[in-house]
Amino acid sequence: MPDFPTSLPEFQRRFPDEDACARYLFELRWPEGFRCPRCGHDHAWALETKAWTFECAGCARQTSVTAGTVMHGSKLSLEIWFWAAYLMATHSNGISALQLQKQLGLGSYKTAWLLCGKLRRAMVNPERTTLSGLVEIDETSISHRTKDDPVAGGQGRSHDGKLLIAAAVEIRGKAPARIRLAKIDDYSADSLHRFIAANVSPTATAKTDAWQGYSGAPVDEHDPHVIGEMAAHVILPWVHRVIANLKRWALGVYHGVRAKHIQAYLDEFVFRFNRRRTRHAAFRSLLATGTKTAPVTYNMLIAPDPRG
Ligand SMILES: [Zn+2]
Repeated sequence: MPDFPTSLPEFQRRFPDEDACARYLFELRWPEGFRCPRCGHDHAWALETKAWTFECAGCARQTSVTAGTVMHGSKLSLEIWFWAAYLMATHSNGISALQLQKQLGLGSYKTAWLLCGKLRRAMVNPERTTLSGLVEIDETSISHRTKDDPVAGGQGRSHDGKLLIAAAVEIRGKAPARIRLAKIDDYSADSLHRFIAANVSPTATAKTDAWQGYSGAPVDEHDPHVIGEMAAHVILPWVHRVIANLKRWALGVYHGVRAKHIQAYLDEFVFRFNRRRTRHAAFRSLLATGTKTAPVTYNMLIAPDPRG
């Protein structure tokens, strides 16, 4: 793995042009040298006519450094992709499509939105491991934004404009390590157990409140606590803090998240939280995961999220 820039001047020095960006992507995608995505052969010739494109010695397939990645077929330069990845990864609160459009001088809001959406897809490493050890788990609801109403879920709306979220926080010593968040359909045992199975190691100890949806959770040890009116922040301090931060972030950065894209926003929040102490390394992981993320089209991004 190549290292990563730790400041803006260093970023500028290291990525002055397309060639420098492409070389970096090559090292992230093929740390042990080129490998053909079709046949797995490891010998290829660099084409003289197309930069950073290789013809496989085994099957003759031509593969560019961005082919089959989240950057596949993009009309934007790699320099713009790198700037966007750097801004999204290193800003402590994230950056909206509108801010990105202005910062990078992009021609349209749609272009910026597409770029943000694609990078967000690259925020979930398919090889990540489940949370382990002591894990606090809780559920919550957050308001979301609709077309007519900037911030839905105001007074007297009960479940309308509310999205249900499950949250898990891994505890190491006395501090939080990694987190996971997912949209859930309801607070039933079925939904909560599915969330736990997908995000928490079966050998973990799950600490929850006494809600019946958690009984029989798919973990070795379950530690449920009956919680009085005020005690939730005492029994489950970290998951409560994470949920409070999530709500503040969703309102502040995006002025309320849209229901359709909720899982993508949750993925971004998780990405940022889990790399809060290594923001510059997060730039590299975003691009590295991007090389493992299948191409995403505009239509895929505007469709309801299949993960949600
Ligand atoms: Zn091949």
